[in-house]
Amino acid sequence: MSDARPPDPRATVGVGDAAIAPLPSTMRAMAIDTLGGLDRLRPMDLPVPGVGPDEVLIRVATVGINRQDLVTMSGRFPNPDLRLPHVPGLDPAGVVVGLGSAVTDRELGERVVVKPPIGCGTCALCRAGEDDACPGLKSVGVHRQGGLAEYVAVPSRSVFAIPDGVGFAEASAAAHAFPVALTMLRRVGVTADDTLLVPGAAGSIGGATTQLARLLGARVIGAVGSPERADAVRALGVEHVIDYRANPAFAPLVRAIVPDGVSVYVETSSDPVIWSEALKTVARRARVAVIGAHAGPVVELDLNWLFRQRVSIIGCSGSSRACFGETLGMLADGRLRPAIDLVVPLGQASVAYRRLMGRDHHGKSIVDLSLPS
Ligand SMILES: [Zn+2]
Repeated sequence: MSDARPPDPRATVGVGDAAIAPLPSTMRAMAIDTLGGLDRLRPMDLPVPGVGPDEVLIRVATVGINRQDLVTMSGRFPNPDLRLPHVPGLDPAGVVVGLGSAVTDRELGERVVVKPPIGCGTCALCRAGEDDACPGLKSVGVHRQGGLAEYVAVPSRSVFAIPDGVGFAEASAAAHAFPVALTMLRRVGVTADDTLLVPGAAGSIGGATTQLARLLGARVIGAVGSPERADAVRALGVEHVIDYRANPAFAPLVRAIVPDGVSVYVETSSDPVIWSEALKTVARRARVAVIGAHAGPVVELDLNWLFRQRVSIIGCSGSSRACFGETLGMLADGRLRPAIDLVVPLGQASVAYRRLMGRDHHGKSIVDLSLPS
């Protein structure tokens, strides 16, 4: 882990904005020292991480509140890379205040945002620009220390400059779901000729998928579980929104819109009931993208149906560096506007996680380190 190393001397010379001052030795963080869930998250004073030769130290301005943090803190899945105390936080944005000795592509004072999944940088997939599929993928805040703290050290290859005119909060809000959704849409080959069915279209990945698919010119049929969520999806400009709780047998409603069926079905949670119904809506040769399974993971699949319908099922996860950069470009020119729900100080992070668990949020919650806790 990067924070086990002594600080690089160069990390002590810059603070990013005109002033030159030594870095403190400790920092405020929200962290867990035992696994078990959100109740374990508490304020801690931790050492400011040192930087390895290929790493940068970032003074964190903002970081997003993501469902993945809840999974990581729960300890539900084996995670041999995790070291306690652990700082969650996938998508910090801030200012570069320290450079490892081998870093040549970043500058002190640069405004940057972190791409959460980090490819190894050397395998065939990483070299081919398909680092989303790197077998050695490690995520900030999951396999290594995250950004729910005043400082975070990350490899320079996971750091992108924030375009002018884009704020820290916006950059954090767009750094996780949008590049993941864009990487999936590219892998599936979505074009303006496609009609997508997106259950969970008001969710994080579902909402990002919906916005990006429309930017690609595709048509989206959103499916959601409440009238409030239907309104949120309509606010994204989506014409067709189906309430799957009010209409559990929703396939005829989709067929009424597209009689031949949808060409792409994007599944973000893999609820077995929604899955079975949604498969009735797909066209011959449709592509089914599976990008989450927290409501599954086991579903029914009739392989007779699969081959006769010539359907492809494609598993997608993570984001490529190319799609991350493309997302930042869309933020800069105003095509993408991530919805921001709550902005809270570091000490109130748990409040935002609870709101996420309650499913009464609309958009991304952000921790702003400049707010007094
Ligand atoms: Zn790799």
